[in-house]
Amino acid sequence: MARRGTALEPGAPRIVLRRRAQDSAALRAMTRICPGACFRFGARDRIEVSPESCLRCGTCRTVGEATGEIEWSGGWPAAASA
Ligand code: SF4
Repeated sequence: MARRGTALEPGAPRIVLRRRAQDSAALRAMTRICPGACFRFGARDRIEVSPESCLRCGTCRTVGEATGEIEWSGGWPAAASA
């Protein structure tokens, strides 16, 4: 069973949330715009991420990088890792 915030395959994208007191609007928006449906509302209406279905589109990096709430590592295409 996969743990939240981890990827199963070596080299797969790894996405971990850096928790703040409240989830930003940008992070909450990822529940609607992530094409892989990797973000969802969890306990106490907080955002959770499960990157197993990540399509490596880079949308969460574009939308969420400025908030500092998401950390990416692992296998990302060059365009998404800049
Ligand atoms: S890279 Fe794309 S598919 Fe993967 S978690 Fe981010 S928005 Fe979702």
